[in-house]
Amino acid sequence: MKTLQQACIGLLALAACVFHAAQAQPLAADEFRVTLLGTGSPAPIMKRFGPGVLVQAGGKNLLIDAGRGVTQRPLQCGVTLGKVDALFVTHLHSDHVVGIPDLWLTGWLEASYAQRKGPFVAYGPTGTQGLMDGLVKAYDWDVKARIADQGLKPEAIAAQVTEIQPGVVYDQGGIKVTAIEVDHGEKLTPAFGYRIDHGGRSVTISGDTRLSENLIDKAAGTDLLIHQVAAASEALLKIPTFRVILAHHTQPEEAATVFNRGKPKLAVYYHFVLLGVPGIPALSEKEVFAATRKT
Ligand SMILES: [Zn+2]
Ligand SMILES: [Zn+2]
Repeated sequence: MKTLQQACIGLLALAACVFHAAQAQPLAADEFRVTLLGTGSPAPIMKRFGPGVLVQAGGKNLLIDAGRGVTQRPLQCGVTLGKVDALFVTHLHSDHVVGIPDLWLTGWLEASYAQRKGPFVAYGPTGTQGLMDGLVKAYDWDVKARIADQGLKPEAIAAQVTEIQPGVVYDQGGIKVTAIEVDHGEKLTPAFGYRIDHGGRSVTISGDTRLSENLIDKAAGTDLLIHQVAAASEALLKIPTFRVILAHHTQPEEAATVFNRGKPKLAVYYHFVLLGVPGIPALSEKEVFAATRKT
């Protein structure tokens, strides 16, 4: 089963393999399943939704980041929005949190795809509480209207936010989530990756980072390492803006170093930042994989 899942995860990274709810296999009691709901970055392309990783283990459905489109995808895995137990935010760049209002509000509805019973639970860096407070204010009309008009329960639209520090941030039902401080750049702090352990198996998700020694250290022995990647042609890097963006991320050759040193059983890319402008095309996934394999 594990091999099959891993193969599917690889396919997801390569070709955005699509699950349909009708085909979603129920989870076996001892199963640890990881699904990439989105492998994109800010680029509004149809091929990749924004970053979102669904981790199912120990009876929990945990979501890492809520990028664009993340609300549409859990159903394809047979997970209703109300069954997402907790969201873990890596950092507050918009491409990682723009899906939060949709998940929070739509997951509250009474329709069969939603039906959250308790509060919306979110873990994230300093600033996450402020983000949620702002959303509460922004959607005040909708929330009040649905309580008054549809009788939706106020307790299930409440947001229960925990602002985290590095270390274990969640330990329930044998599933442990460790926040790993990563290096997204001096002005982009704090930024985290997450490692999720359950029943002797684990997945580590990089979040947005440059080559991070701390991530390599904390990911040691992990089964599955899901890492971001960014690349651009030499010609594009003559433009300062693109140099800045690339400097906040891990390039394929550096990711290979992370994989070589961290030695995960399987390495998978997500959060593809493939930069291009008219006249200077973005690198293809194939070129990214070739650059990775160089080392
Ligand atoms: Zn990002
Ligand atoms: Zn970022």
